[in-house]
Amino acid sequence: MPPIFNKPTTDKYDFVIIGGGSGGSGCSRRAASYGKKVAVVEMTAHLGGTCVNVGCVPKKIMWHAADLREKLMYHASGYKMQDLPQLPKFDWASFKPQRDAYIRKLNGIYHSNFDKEGVEYHQGYGRLKTPKSVEVTLGDGQKYTLEADNICIATGGYPTVPSEEDIPGASLGITSDGFFELEDQPKRVAVVGAGYIAVELAGVFNALGSETHLVIRGETVLRTFDPTLQQVLTPWMEHTGVNIHKSSKVVKLEGEKGKTLTVTMDSGKKIEVDCVLWAIGRRASTGDMGLEAHGVELDGKGNVVVDEYQNSSVKGITAIGDVQGKALLTPVAIAAGRRLANRLFGPEKFRDDKLNYENIPTVVFSHPTIGTVGLTEPEARKKYGDDQVKIYKSSFRALYFSMVEEHHKEPSTSKIICVGPEEKVVGIHIIGMGSDEAMQGFGVAVKMGARKQDLDDTVAIHPTSAEELVTLR
Ligand code: FAD
Ligand code: NDP
Repeated sequence: MPPIFNKPTTDKYDFVIIGGGSGGSGCSRRAASYGKKVAVVEMTAHLGGTCVNVGCVPKKIMWHAADLREKLMYHASGYKMQDLPQLPKFDWASFKPQRDAYIRKLNGIYHSNFDKEGVEYHQGYGRLKTPKSVEVTLGDGQKYTLEADNICIATGGYPTVPSEEDIPGASLGITSDGFFELEDQPKRVAVVGAGYIAVELAGVFNALGSETHLVIRGETVLRTFDPTLQQVLTPWMEHTGVNIHKSSKVVKLEGEKGKTLTVTMDSGKKIEVDCVLWAIGRRASTGDMGLEAHGVELDGKGNVVVDEYQNSSVKGITAIGDVQGKALLTPVAIAAGRRLANRLFGPEKFRDDKLNYENIPTVVFSHPTIGTVGLTEPEARKKYGDDQVKIYKSSFRALYFSMVEEHHKEPSTSKIICVGPEEKVVGIHIIGMGSDEAMQGFGVAVKMGARKQDLDDTVAIHPTSAEELVTLR
């Protein structure tokens, strides 16, 4: 077991990072690779942060379980697979410990990687003591100080829950963190929210066989995404059995946690469920860290305000990842962290290194998945004007579904947004089987400034769904 540090090993570190999640890990290891003396202060016993412990990784594992059940239930018979159970039952109670064990293994790998690179892991709560020092509070209350000229805030965020004043009984609900603690599968669940997490977790519950309700304020899910994606996914979720309560707000929760909960909506409609999950956004972990007291500017939502180089308003203090409130994605936190370490400690060629936050590709692990990069159609029209924007779009069924019963044939749609006479591609939005894996490569193309002609000049890979994007007319 690699060491966990509980006191300083030097009078002055080159770099102290508060938070051992995606950003903190990427940043610290890159800095240490340049021979710098680096400490990470992480308050939990599980390195890897949100992504590893209560985010991307366990979520994707649950998505795979859900996807597999859908294939077994609805697709396998079309492929004449014999002797399958009609209704494969997912054993949540025995799957959870197996999933948890995998996550513990990842925590260990993060720890070993720190050890290999020479990054010190201080397991305690980090707080700014001065603009050049971090106070570490250990679990037993002991405190010590790490001095450094460079301090990075990489403390991520946490899921928000409405206040009891706003929604009486709100604390009876859980959040995505609680989702990963569930020992058993709720038979009936209400997910509140319409963003990534709401869509993904409602999709998992539904595909694994829970009666699933989704309470959304608008008419569609993923309202910040391209309208085509919203219009394809929302009815398909309903088609697959998710009860979407549109234009609805939860006004009250009643009952007992772990038992039946009654959800009352502003329309007066009531539903009874075993679990309510709030997925209404996240907030930066910046409270009680002494940041504002030492001049670090926070915005109205508590995010650390940074410039394009991740510098905060205080010299020597930087912030990366979710805590700076922009593009809350693991690879963004890692990329920003590595580039920051390059700029601060790397060779001369990296003096100006910084992450470009434009054209970040992203995937929603819905059923089916969504892949997206660049501007939505309304964003492109607003930025360039209607006459400059040309849309290419196609809706189809992936070949896989040719053998599947009509009711279960998932939709696929590909959309390309081009601007100007040269038809520069400024947005690609895809939904359908395989869109998650296809998006990475098309993200490269958009990043490189591809024109529609470049896509057309690329020979298709047949038969795939991705080929649709190079054959659109
Ligand atoms: P975090 O990973 O949250 O790390 C912050 C760390 O700081 C934590 O370990 C915390 O314990 C520690 N900390 C906080 N305060 C202190 C303190 N004062 N002292 C010491 N330590 C402290 N992104 C994707 O790209 N793909 C996905 O599929 C995806 N799925 C997600 C699913 C869910 C359910 C959630 C919630 C998020 C998902 N994300 C996904 C987002 C992704 O997890 C985050 O963007 C990413 O983890 C941010 O990394 P970070 O380093 O900024 O923060
Ligand atoms: P999001 O910001 O994505 O979505 C939250 C949504 O909830 C809002 O868009 C809003 O939708 C709705 N909402 C907000 N407030 C309320 C309210 N008071 N009552 C009801 N609904 C409300 O947050 P998430 O929590 O889903 O996810 C946080 C971030 O984590 C994401 O933005 C993403 O960056 C990251 N993530 C990435 C994933 C991935 O890469 N696959 C997966 C999961 C998370 P509306 O306005 O329509 O009501």
